Amino acid sequence: MHIDPRDVEICVHDQPIGEPPHPTSVPVFQTSLFSFPSLEALGEGFLTESRTHVYSRGQNPTVEELERKLATLERGERCKAFSSGMAAISAVFFGLLRAGDHVVFVNQIYGPTLQLARQFRRFDVEHDVVLELDPDAVERAIRPETRLIWVESPGTMLFRLVDLEAIAGLARSRGILSAIDNTWATPLLQKPVLLGFDLVMHTATKYIGGHSDVMAGALITTEQRMETIFRRAYLLQGGALGPWDAWLLLRGLRTLPQRLRHQEEAALDLARWLEEHSAVASVHHPALTADAELAGRQMTGFAGVFSFVLRDGRWQNVCRVVDGLRKFRIGVSWGGVDSLVLAPKPFPGSETQRKQSLPPGLVRLSVGLEDVEALRSDLSQALSR
Ligand SMILES: *Cc1c(COP(=O)(O)O)cnc(C)c1O
Repeated sequence: MHIDPRDVEICVHDQPIGEPPHPTSVPVFQTSLFSFPSLEALGEGFLTESRTHVYSRGQNPTVEELERKLATLERGERCKAFSSGMAAISAVFFGLLRAGDHVVFVNQIYGPTLQLARQFRRFDVEHDVVLELDPDAVERAIRPETRLIWVESPGTMLFRLVDLEAIAGLARSRGILSAIDNTWATPLLQKPVLLGFDLVMHTATKYIGGHSDVMAGALITTEQRMETIFRRAYLLQGGALGPWDAWLLLRGLRTLPQRLRHQEEAALDLARWLEEHSAVASVHHPALTADAELAGRQMTGFAGVFSFVLRDGRWQNVCRVVDGLRKFRIGVSWGGVDSLVLAPKPFPGSETQRKQSLPPGLVRLSVGLEDVEALRSDLSQALSR
């Protein structure tokens, strides 16, 4: 894993504010509004609301410190933080799409993102999902009305990689916006803006918060595009992040580089062990399954979430193995200090399931900060039941 030393500095230290001596962490500006010296000054504030403290549904100083950090980590111009990852995704769709537009999703995509896309059919926005990751297949899915290409890499559940430079280049050459859900890799291990992406989205609920105790999302893009999203969506959808939650995320960021270093190593350790296990048919971890040359071009390390497929993929066997785990807690989400396990229940006829083509017997692990030997022996006992 390589993490840019400048990024470690950004994660660890808040910007000094006010006169010295400085507090080492930004205060929580627990306020819904900011009062002005005159009515005229308030009127001026409204004109530049994306830059001025008027109302915390738009701007708040604690949230701004988080946004400054995330924009810098992603090497983007501007970041806005949201109350969840889904709020950030909604703001992209709501802020940038119009009736008649078409969206191409590339790779296995987080389920609710596709559910949201299906809601947008009501507003005459169509979409297709491309699971064949070769850029030619993506190109074939493009229509004259395609407005946005939305990528996940590594993708949900199977963690397959998309050639990000190729997709960003393709989108740009066709005048289409490119966006990526960069949650898995975090801003430390993959910087899509540098690979040509127009928009980068994060679910800060996962690794950035890192402690399974806060929900948040973030969007990074150019100043100009963010101004559009701010006016059309951020202020009006009301998905702003609260100052306390922003503070928790700032605290989470401080240990992100160290957490990732541990989680990469522990997850790889377990993934390699699972690969050799007789009850396991395959392991889906980008360090083991992806094209190493591609991974090396666009990522500088690996996070701690991966999946494996049980040889006996019947649902009852999946339940037996998962329910037998003691150290991995059963639950949604991932990226926290506590190890988690989840398996998608095969729903016959589920549109999301069909679209994602996930194999039966799939089990996803999120490796936390527990002792790796304890996690391995837990997997061992559950698999030998
Ligand atoms: C969890 C998740 C989301 C949604 O984030 P929330 O904070 O739960 O709204 C989006 N994308 C990915 C890849 C996720 O794992």
